[in-house]
Amino acid sequence: MIRDIFAEPWRENIGTDDWVILQDRYDPEENLKYESLFALSNGYLGIRGSYEEGTKITLPYLYINGVFDKSETFMRELAALPNWLGIRLYVEKELIGVENCEILEFARALDMKQAVLYRHTVLKDKKGRITKIEGRRFVSRDNVHRMGIELLVTPMNYSGIIEAENIIDGTIVNFYDAPRFKVKHMYQTANERLGEDGVYMETATRDRHLHVGCGCRLEAYKDGQPVMGNRMFNAFGEQAVEFGDVHVKEGECVRFVKYVSMYTERECPAYALHTTIKDEVDRFAGEGFGAELEKHAKVYEKMWQEADVRINGDFELDRAVRFNIFHLMSTGNETDDRVSVGAKLLTGEEYGGHAFWDIELFMLPFFSYVFPQMAKNMETYRYHLLDAARDNARKNGFKGAQYPWESADDGTEQCPDWTIEPDGTCYRCYVAVYEHHVTADVAYGIYDYVKITNDKDFLLNEGAEILTETARFWASRCEYIPEKDRYEINQVTGPDEWHEPVDNNLYTNYFARWNLRYVMVLTEQMKREYPDAYASLAEKTGLTDEEVKSWDEVQKKIYLPRKEGTNLLEQFEGYFDLHDVVIDKYDENDWPIRPEALNHYPKGETQILKQPDVVLLLHLLGEEFDKELIKENYDYYEKRTLHGSSLSPSIYSVMGLKVGDDSRAYRYLRRAAFIDLLNLQKNTREGIHAANAGGVWQTVVFGFAGVSIEEGILKICPNMPKEWTDLTFRLHYYGSWIEITVSGDNTASVKLLSGEHAKVNINGSIQEI
Ligand code: BGC
Repeated sequence: MIRDIFAEPWRENIGTDDWVILQDRYDPEENLKYESLFALSNGYLGIRGSYEEGTKITLPYLYINGVFDKSETFMRELAALPNWLGIRLYVEKELIGVENCEILEFARALDMKQAVLYRHTVLKDKKGRITKIEGRRFVSRDNVHRMGIELLVTPMNYSGIIEAENIIDGTIVNFYDAPRFKVKHMYQTANERLGEDGVYMETATRDRHLHVGCGCRLEAYKDGQPVMGNRMFNAFGEQAVEFGDVHVKEGECVRFVKYVSMYTERECPAYALHTTIKDEVDRFAGEGFGAELEKHAKVYEKMWQEADVRINGDFELDRAVRFNIFHLMSTGNETDDRVSVGAKLLTGEEYGGHAFWDIELFMLPFFSYVFPQMAKNMETYRYHLLDAARDNARKNGFKGAQYPWESADDGTEQCPDWTIEPDGTCYRCYVAVYEHHVTADVAYGIYDYVKITNDKDFLLNEGAEILTETARFWASRCEYIPEKDRYEINQVTGPDEWHEPVDNNLYTNYFARWNLRYVMVLTEQMKREYPDAYASLAEKTGLTDEEVKSWDEVQKKIYLPRKEGTNLLEQFEGYFDLHDVVIDKYDENDWPIRPEALNHYPKGETQILKQPDVVLLLHLLGEEFDKELIKENYDYYEKRTLHGSSLSPSIYSVMGLKVGDDSRAYRYLRRAAFIDLLNLQKNTREGIHAANAGGVWQTVVFGFAGVSIEEGILKICPNMPKEWTDLTFRLHYYGSWIEITVSGDNTASVKLLSGEHAKVNINGSIQEI
């Protein structure tokens, strides 16, 4: 059992191996990957899994969701905040750390069950002194303003004095190892004692001067008694450091505990930050590390009751799926509807913490079915930014509301116009200019959230307003071409970003039509059944019957390209005229090899895709297409998709199952589930692929378990891989909370855990539960 590696008193709390991700050796080249894998988040903040003592290769980022800043960089991005991880221990000036000592024993492990990061190290310094350091840390989900680190330190072959530094490091900068992008978002406003003991640092964002406070205290205990002596506070520039020392005896364990708290001006007036944090740290230390950890573990126990997916018969995959769910659910926020979930969660710097369409299409289904309150907050976040989307549409010459491709805290477009490649060349980034489908994806997200939760109140109020404004955007975005008597959307980029821009991207046109049609049906229904809600919508948006009538004309005549006389849908107008390059070679992991032809033609001149486009449309609006058509298009586009985005494999997995390509579907799921654990995309250092994590959940639940909602009834039609003996998970659906178990032979049973009775269609037979 992995847990047997770690300190004895902690073992019984650590999960069994199916809950634990192990790092069993130290390799500095792997530091950044493990910092992402071992990041901890409690929805409020996230901190990467760096080492307490510091290492040469490290990006020790700490983010609080919602704390964005731009300064001289390209975009408003999550600001790297002063980091409180630092605990440095010295014996006669020798730092006891993984890079300063010989490593005799090493392990770290993420226990997903309780969201605790453990370490076990035995280190020998240059003078032959051996020190054992066992550690654990957590960021409390019970009180999100409390974070703690505990180290059990045992001098194995010496007695003497251990000198300790308790550090808050305010020198951290975003993009530290990318000289061109490096930026310091926070400036220091205080660096002082927390109280009698402990350190306090306050910083503020440079643009909007939002204050963030961080305070902590390091205690040392022997047999439960505090033993830290000679405390001394030092403000070393942008580091707040408290020194203390402890007399140690060979073989005797000293317990160090760091109690940390953070607040921002979003929760507490700036003048009160210091006192609020001091009180929080005092209370935390008074109640004890163990007491808070216990409360935190209880919250996780409850969360896992909702979220765990148990696959029996496929151990590694089962754990990998759990790993994806762990990171996703750890970042969701059930109390704050002004924040969303960034493309890398709170685990890394790529994409600056921005929310993309990744939210609506990849993550939201998980949250809607498993943590509906978190899903609602993500939807409400979009509502709060509706006015900004209105401004955005106006600025671009359109009506209604146009959501930005990348969204931070104020709803303005945050996708940079330019990026600079590592070789220094500038690259004009057009996605924000052309990738308009995000606006329809936001609309679809509302539909999907309500379909699962039946949150009518949200639909009739915030939802209807967003849907109306996005429909209005599409009506103005569509261009009438008199000679063809049709509406077109030209100069646009679809989900496949390797063709940019194009005319009449099928996905975009289809979803524009979907948005228009859906609002037309919804407003009719509102008029009949909810006249007050309709009146309020008309008042807020100025919607009239004439306008809706004009939308009808657009949706009827919108152009949907396809190859005449065949079942093949055309990704965009002219796609089939491009060089037809097909993937015909696969590596030892059965992963497509970049076709040779791409050395001769730019990708955009070929039919090779970055990620599903038509196939994604078939996944989302499958009921509008027949089976044969879906299969033909899957076959066609699958051979031309290079999966340049992590958003790709999970969709091909779900769709592979739909068309009977079962073994490939299983391999796609494995690819998706291990993307970060095995660093398959080679960029896990920049953070966990959040959309993929949502895609993994969808693949298991929608794909292999075959869950869908048809005509208001939950349907289960499994298609289990031969490796799995059974699969169990829980869902919220309308007012009920249910457990679904699927057996290897594709039979399924459903148990009502709480809430209202519901009807479920299992393999074609309707059951009342
Ligand atoms: C993908 C987009 C995605 C973005 C953020 C890009 O590489 O092509 O579809 O939204 O990453 O995850």
